[in-house]
Formats: sequence, C-alpha cells, structure tokens
Amino acid sequence: MGSFVETLRGIVGPAGVLEGDALQARLAGKPQQQARWLVRPADTAEVSQVLAACHAAGVAVVPQGGLTGLVHATDTRPDELILSLERMQQLSVDTTQRVLVAQAGVLLESAQAAAVAAGLMVPVDLGARGSATLGGMVATNAGGNSVIRYGMMRENLRGLEVVLADGTVLDMTNQLVKNNSGYDLKHLFIGSEGTLGVVTRVVLRLCEPPAGRGTALLALPGFDAVAPLLRRLDQALDGTLSAFEVMWQDFYRTVTTPPALTRPPLAHDHPLYVLVECGTADGTERLCEILAAAMEEGTVADATIAQSEREAKALWAMRDDVAQLRRSGPLVAYDISLRLADTGPYIEDLRGAIGRRWPGARVWAFGHLGDGNVHVAVHVPQLDAAGRSELDGLVYTPLQALRGAVSAEHGIGLEKKAWLAISRTPAEFALMRTLKQSLDPRGVLNPGRVFDTPLI
Ligand SMILES: Cc1cc2nc3c(=O)[nH]c(=O)nc-3n(C[C@H](O)[C@H](O)[C@H](O)COP(=O)(O)OP(=O)(O)OC[C@H]3O[C@@H](n4cnc5c(N)ncnc54)[C@H](O)[C@@H]3O)c2cc1C
Repeated sequence: MGSFVETLRGIVGPAGVLEGDALQARLAGKPQQQARWLVRPADTAEVSQVLAACHAAGVAVVPQGGLTGLVHATDTRPDELILSLERMQQLSVDTTQRVLVAQAGVLLESAQAAAVAAGLMVPVDLGARGSATLGGMVATNAGGNSVIRYGMMRENLRGLEVVLADGTVLDMTNQLVKNNSGYDLKHLFIGSEGTLGVVTRVVLRLCEPPAGRGTALLALPGFDAVAPLLRRLDQALDGTLSAFEVMWQDFYRTVTTPPALTRPPLAHDHPLYVLVECGTADGTERLCEILAAAMEEGTVADATIAQSEREAKALWAMRDDVAQLRRSGPLVAYDISLRLADTGPYIEDLRGAIGRRWPGARVWAFGHLGDGNVHVAVHVPQLDAAGRSELDGLVYTPLQALRGAVSAEHGIGLEKKAWLAISRTPAEFALMRTLKQSLDPRGVLNPGRVFDTPLI
C-alpha cells in the first residue's frame, strides 16, 4: 500500500493525507472511528482523483461532513479511508437567481449567514447548524423544524455536483427550476447517505425571509383535535404556517419542570401541546383570531401567544430542550414517519407495549407532526443488547402494517439497516441494490451502510 498513499499525497498534497500517529491523534477519544487514512481534498478534481484511486485499489471510502448524523453512518473500520470534505469551504450567493452555490464542506450556519447578508434566507434549518455541512445534509436529505412550509433538502436543491465511485464527475448544477430533459439524476443522490456518490457542490434555493412571525403554544384536548387544528391553521394562514410541533404530555411535563423550567407556560394536565409558528408581518394578531375560533370550536383547550421575540425564543428553547429527557438515564431515540391519523393510536399502543414489557420504562413522544414525523425517546433501566433489539422490534414492527417509515429524517446508516425492509417492498429493495451495483460496482462507497453489499 506504500504506492497507494503516495498516489493520495500526489493528489491532495502531503498535508491533505493523515495516517499513522497523526491520524490516531486526530481520532483520539473517538473509538467508533478506526480509519487507516484520512484524506482532505480541496476541490472536485481532487475528490475525483482520490475516488478513482480508491476504486482501482478496492479501498473502502467513508465520506464525512460535520459528523452530526444520528445513525452511525460515519463510524469507520480500521481498513477504511475517511474522505473529509472539511477543506471544501467556498460559497457564493447569486441574488438574481436567488441561489447559494457552495462546496460540500460549507457549514449550514455559514450558508445561512451568507444568505442573510444578501437579504435572503436558507429555507432549511436544524439544531446542528453549527456543525452540519451542506454535503452531509444533501446525503441525508435533512429536514428540520420548517419542513411543513419549505420542505426538506430535496425540495430546496436547484443543482448538485456529485463524484461517482470511479471518479466520474456529474455536473448537475445548471440552477434550472424546470428541467424535464430526461431523468432528474440529482434525486438519486439526495438521501443516499454517501452510498452512491460523493456530493462536492450544492446549489441551494434561497427564499425571501418572512416579514414577521407569530409563535404560540397550544394545549389540545386530545389527538383527535390535531388534524382539524392543522387544517384550520393552514387555511387561515395562507400557506405561511412554518412549524407545527406536537408534544405529548410526558414530554411537555419533563421540559417544563425544574430544573428545566420553574413555571410551565401552560398547565400540565392536557394530553397534547403544539408549538405553532407562522411567518407573516401580522402573525401574532392572526394567531389570536384563529385560536379564539379554535377554542370556541373545542380543538384548542388553552393557549399562550408569544408577545415578543424573547417569548418566542423561550417557547422554542422549551421544545428543543430534549437534553432534559436524559435526566432519567440513557435514552434510545427513534425518528419515524406515519400518516397523521395513525400516529395517535400508534403512540398509545407503543406506550402500552413498552410498559407491559418493562414496567419501569419511560416513553416520550414529540415531533414535526405537520409532516408526519414523530420522535420517540425511550428509557429502559439496564437495557442490554438483546433488550435493545426487542425494543427496536416493538417500535418498528407495527410500522410495516401502517406503511410507516423507520426513518423520517436521520437515515438508515448502520443503526437501522436490519429494519429497512419494514419500510420498503422487496421490489424497491431490489432496485436499490441494482442502482448501487451499477453506480458503485466494486462497492467502495460507504460499504455496509443502508444495506449490505460486497466489497469487490
Ligand atoms: C443537535 C442535532 C439536531 C439535529 N436535528 C436534525 C433535524 O431537525 N432534522 C434532520 O434531518 N436532521 C437533524 N440532525 C441530524 C444531522 O444534523 C443531519 O443528518 C446532517 O444532515 C448530517 O450532516 P453532516 O455534515 O454532519 O454529515 P455527517 O454526519 O458527517 O454524515 C452523514 C452521512 O452523510 C454522508 N456524507 C457526508 N458528507 C457527504 C458528502 N459530501 N457526499 C456524500 N455523502 C456525504 C456520510 O457518509 C454519512 O452517511 C440533527 C443532529 C443533531 C446533532
């Protein structure tokens, strides 16, 4: 392998390749990262040459962005090569076309700052904005809190540049909104978790920022109120509803009791709570009117409307304070998708099943219900590997009959691949394998992530 590493150094320069002690120093304290080389290309041409060399040598490549992924997809084995996009940081904003063009290593936060400086806004936002890269967000088709209004990464890409496993560069960055000239190939790579190609450049649509916002926390009398309330808000807000975050009572209690908060914004005795946000100049007044009608109708039992930016931020901080769930001990976190009508009964059944199996367990449910995405966090005292597998079965197995998804946002990675067949038919699975085989015939890109394929 001496000549292989010389080849890599010839492509990215000596400082662009880490191995041996330098690599061990960088990976210290990260037992899940055991690579043989770490390579840092600076541009697409270098990515292409590195991949061509790996393809020729049969070396497994794991692309890494900001390492904020939640399904262990970037865990690496001792024989693998980490392809870090960290040096690929160029970005520019085109205010005529209203797009941001960026290399894959650009952080979401940097993209957001560049858009704001140009009077525009990146439509996708998530809590890991300070570390997540645009390339990683494309690879995982990341969502976030505003998907209900702006969509996921897929809905916001105007172009993509991808390097295939053998080094072929696919330039799909023409920025066109409409382009039905044959297959729209960029969609193959969005959400493919780095198994079909390496994202090197991203063209992201930018939006006009909302003229203002209204934020409110609502208490609901039960799950049956969720769908009519969502419909009412959508209709009355002319498409400006930008968040609909549902919290079941357990979650709300935990994030609004000491040491999290000393006084809950609304009483603790309601079955469900919803944090809603709209992006209009008169948002607060509009929400007041809509909620008065909803309370009269009985879909809302109580409500508090933020009267200032500070109050709005406090409501969001409460919703985002998932760290409070760890007060009970270690958690297993799930990120699933269901049709709205199935969600309430599913959560109740799941609570019952987990409670019967582990009477000391705790279950919290919350999520972006406007787009069918529920997060379930579970604490089971002294859960061992066999118990974890049993717990996974309780969460995932019912999704098959409901046609739900084992991953809404986070992907499959290494963590969920045993459960992928729950959400995909055998025919879909077979086509996925055909695509992988055809785009990466030697199986060098992220081997074993999403599903198993041989490394040839
Ligand atoms: C606090 C927190 C909040 C989060 N909130 C959300 C949320 O609301 N919604 C949501 O969807 N996700 C959320 N996530 C998950 C995470 O931020 C996303 O999965 C993110 O998109 C991954 O980007 P990354 O740069 O960190 O990629 P990494 O974690 O480095 O990689 C993730 C996957 O993408 C592949 N990859 C990385 N870069 C490339 C590339 N250039 N080309 C090809 N493949 C690549 C990797 O091989 C891996 O399979 C959250 C994570 C945290 C820690």
